[in-house]
Amino acid sequence: MYPHDNISFWTSGQGLWKHVPAHLWNDWRWQMQNRITTAAQLEAFMPLTARERDGFLAVKNRLAFAVTPHFFNLIDRENPDCPIRRQIVPVTEENIFSEGETDDPVGEEKSSPVPGLVHRYPDRVLLLSTDRCACYCRYCTRSRLVSNARGYDFHPHLDAGLRYIAEHREIRDVLVSGGDFFLLSDEKINDLLSRLRAIPHVEFLRVGSRVPVFLPQRITPALCEILKRHGPIWLSLHINHPRECTRELAEAAERLAFAGVVLGNQSVLLRGVNDDETVMRSLVHRLLMMRIRPYYLYACDKISGSAHFRVPVIRGIEIIRSLRGKTSGYAIPQFVIDAPGGGGKIPVNPDYLEAFLSDGSVRLKNFLGKEFLY
Ligand SMILES: *Cc1c(COP(=O)(O)O)cnc(C)c1O
Ligand code: SF4
Repeated sequence: MYPHDNISFWTSGQGLWKHVPAHLWNDWRWQMQNRITTAAQLEAFMPLTARERDGFLAVKNRLAFAVTPHFFNLIDRENPDCPIRRQIVPVTEENIFSEGETDDPVGEEKSSPVPGLVHRYPDRVLLLSTDRCACYCRYCTRSRLVSNARGYDFHPHLDAGLRYIAEHREIRDVLVSGGDFFLLSDEKINDLLSRLRAIPHVEFLRVGSRVPVFLPQRITPALCEILKRHGPIWLSLHINHPRECTRELAEAAERLAFAGVVLGNQSVLLRGVNDDETVMRSLVHRLLMMRIRPYYLYACDKISGSAHFRVPVIRGIEIIRSLRGKTSGYAIPQFVIDAPGGGGKIPVNPDYLEAFLSDGSVRLKNFLGKEFLY
């Protein structure tokens, strides 16, 4: 237990795979090869609900199911509402498409001058390096292309992407994502980072990855050495619930930090996962303890079949408000909505500015609701 709440922490280990030699368990390739990928395999490990069994029928041609043994161990197998389980096990509702939902909710395709590269903001681009992830999140914004369940047939056009970046001198910031960049081999990671570093106007290099959460074994000393060599690298993790903060993740984060990687976190606000003040506070506290700065809290994008995950925007604002003033300022992420159709990220934080007065002063409200004039 962690002294400031009652959620168990730093525990994980081999769980149901205690019989596996530690050197295999700690090998990321073993974890990948031993992923659970079908309903029948999953059912051998835990009872499924009717909604889950039904959900698997929809998965086949929408978004693959996969979970590493490490992440599987975090599931409460007796609880169908387990927040870890909700994120990765499909349910019936995933097949219900609601008003305004699409397969490309933030309009990436139309801002894509080269396949696998999204250029939405003037000075920065998103480069998609692979279509694979270690586990698949049921609410994934990029489910049209990750896991290739829809025959999108995504192949990173890295040469074309790199040429585009080299030809556009206004690009100073490259975000490498996917899929998950850290599933590539050390050689490929080293090669892409070297080629990006060789472009003189690219001054800021960052990676988005959920691998430290799903597959902390991948964060090897050799990988950290590569990241160090090409540093500074900024890394955005994707951690949604305090229970994901295992000892293994904390150790991986420490290896990354000691290699000079700057760590941030992007959470998605998800119903039944983290739409709760206590859960969010314990998450952000654990992040700080692992040297991970909360960066963004996203409203869940309107990807097809995700209505069961969506939380009213006002709840997100209330949750941020519950943190402000009551915990370390470093612990508070920006709440953002990625505008449908491709408007980019729009911050929607609680407003503490009550009024602009005619003499140039402002009326403010503090975290306790008390008014002040400045
Ligand atoms: C999120 C995103 C970025 C990075 O945005 P920041 O606010 O700078 O973190 C860049 N390009 C695209 C297409 C994005 O979706
Ligand atoms: S790790 Fe990221 S890209 Fe992969 S399925 Fe989850 S949200 Fe999508």
